[in-house]
Amino acid sequence: MSNKKNKLTKNFGGSVDNDQNSVTAGSRGPVLMQDVHLIEKLAHFNRERIPERVVHAKGAGGYFEVTKDITKYTKAKFLSEIGKKTEVFARFSTVGGEKGSADAERDPRGFAVKFYTEEGNYDLVGNNTPVFFIRDPLKFPDFIHTQKRNPETNLKDANMFWDFLSLTPESLHQVTILFSDRGTPRAFRNMNGYGSHTFKWYNQDNESFWIKYHFKTDQGIDNFTRQEADQIKAVDPDSATRDLFNAIKKGNYPSWTLQIQVMPMKDAETYRFDVFDVTKVWPHSDYPVMEVGKMVLNRNPSNYFAEVEQVAFSPGNFVPGITASSDKMLQGRLFAYQDAHRYRLGPNYHLLPVNRAKAVTTMNYQRDGNMRFDSNGGSAPNYYLNSFGGPEPDIQTAEPSYEVSGKVARQHYIHPNDDFLQPGNLYRKVMTDQDRTNLVGNIVSHLSNAKKEIQIRQAKIFYKTDTEYGQRIADGLNINI
Ligand code: NDP
Repeated sequence: MSNKKNKLTKNFGGSVDNDQNSVTAGSRGPVLMQDVHLIEKLAHFNRERIPERVVHAKGAGGYFEVTKDITKYTKAKFLSEIGKKTEVFARFSTVGGEKGSADAERDPRGFAVKFYTEEGNYDLVGNNTPVFFIRDPLKFPDFIHTQKRNPETNLKDANMFWDFLSLTPESLHQVTILFSDRGTPRAFRNMNGYGSHTFKWYNQDNESFWIKYHFKTDQGIDNFTRQEADQIKAVDPDSATRDLFNAIKKGNYPSWTLQIQVMPMKDAETYRFDVFDVTKVWPHSDYPVMEVGKMVLNRNPSNYFAEVEQVAFSPGNFVPGITASSDKMLQGRLFAYQDAHRYRLGPNYHLLPVNRAKAVTTMNYQRDGNMRFDSNGGSAPNYYLNSFGGPEPDIQTAEPSYEVSGKVARQHYIHPNDDFLQPGNLYRKVMTDQDRTNLVGNIVSHLSNAKKEIQIRQAKIFYKTDTEYGQRIADGLNINI
């Protein structure tokens, strides 16, 4: 064997030149299909589990109503007039825990919304945090492994958890939010949802804008402290699921106000933060939020499996007027979600009632496959071009084209500003004294389970973002940094 010990390879033995940066066109992306290492890694990751959801969740139906005129930014028809209502299905989830784990675990919460629009389904597949741990999809399978179970002990493992994070300083912003009390929301009703990535909107004149989404809870933010979360996990592991179901059943319908931040395209070239870096927010003082509408959840699913278990969201389900940015994490997700659904639910998962486009008849040339339970296109032609009146593409729905230039390579993000400024601002400027005390206590109680050298490495990162933040953690852990 010519293999050097410890040499990273692809699944068929080919060498890997870089395992931190996806292949992009230019340093800011987009990510290229020719990154076979990335595709292999994500596709294999999606097939790690037998087809059962790896997160548990509660979903609910309802509607979205437009409350402000935003037609100068998007031509999406479901956002085209004040008062317009669109049916939605929302699904909230924890991320790392298996089915049966407690709702009150410290974890980001998934916040996914499917809009059944007259131009096809639009999915906004976000979290309750405005940022994420990593910014390149090549790191995603590794990151999730560290949040799951140790391959030897089958236990959650603080060494794996903090080893990866302490070697990945870009995670610090998300870690700071996760270990604040926002990491243990009291209920799904009491948390915000964020699109997290930057998306692109374009209007009737094909003028484009960069957009961030914020769903603000109308019930108010309300979180468990660590001690409260530990208590509720023991007495009611289904606390958030129960809360949502009961609230809707009683007619106490939860709602969220959707706000956006809008950035003119040219600003992104010189803005002090990389707008395609999902570990960064746009400070509100730079780009104030503006209201779009309200989401109200007024219907519990009548069958959990049929709707909540089988619903399949994809960040790639867009409608004209809304599309992707070249955020590398988003680009990876455009592939990974649909791939996961094809594996878990089969290639015809789009025909399941909860997933089917409700306001549009789906027509194309895809046929056959497992569980094809509609008429499979009947006797209509199954190829295009054809002279038998089959469905035709509509050029009017094309996204405005854009220029891409740059080297094709595995490239770092260019970020003249570091990864420490925004988490530091959160600690110093946004959090109250009580928030900071709880944050430090939450981190110390978890990080103290990792090896000393990992504790020290992580504490140094906290120190780098804010000396007081780092020092309080070092003191709590009784270590010198
Ligand atoms: P602002 O003061 O304008 O906004 C602060 C934001 O922080 C508010 O949206 C608030 O959400 C949110 N927030 C309050 N407490 C916490 C907490 N414990 N954990 C996470 N978020 C919290 O400041 P900037 O826009 O300049 O942002 C400063 C920092 O705030 C950022 O570095 C980021 O860490 C955090 N943040 C910023 C967001 C943004 O989009 N700009 C969004 C969320 C967080 P709410 O109003 O719902 O209470």
